[in-house]
Amino acid sequence: MGVRTQRQVVDYALQRRALLAEVYSGRVGTMEVCDADPYLLRAAKFHGQPSNVTCPVCRKETLTHVSWVYGDELKHAAGSARTVEELARMATLFEEFSVYVVEVCRTCSWNHLVQSYVLGTRGLRSGKPRRRTAAE
Ligand SMILES: [Zn+2]
Repeated sequence: MGVRTQRQVVDYALQRRALLAEVYSGRVGTMEVCDADPYLLRAAKFHGQPSNVTCPVCRKETLTHVSWVYGDELKHAAGSARTVEELARMATLFEEFSVYVVEVCRTCSWNHLVQSYVLGTRGLRSGKPRRRTAAE
């Protein structure tokens, strides 16, 4: 995602791989990991972003990414799913909020945390010092 204020990015690929290894070996049942609730499936349908990653469990369809937002500043919007376009707009309206990206398979209900990061205008100030021009 190309939002300029994206920071504190955490990737959950290792945890995902470890869990899938358990599933493939049969130590963890697919029933336990394919447990997306109706709320998540609904969010995937209306706010999801299609990915090009095939579902690692059923291999029948590509995964949908759902971005959940959290933060005190968001008030009633905290804990809701947002589209990429909405995230970009929110990044200019709020100082700081967290985004948790969850992948979900709308066929078998596999779901896993993919990435979390922080967005907001505070990232603009704490970044590199602004270049001054001769006029300033
Ligand atoms: Zn699936």
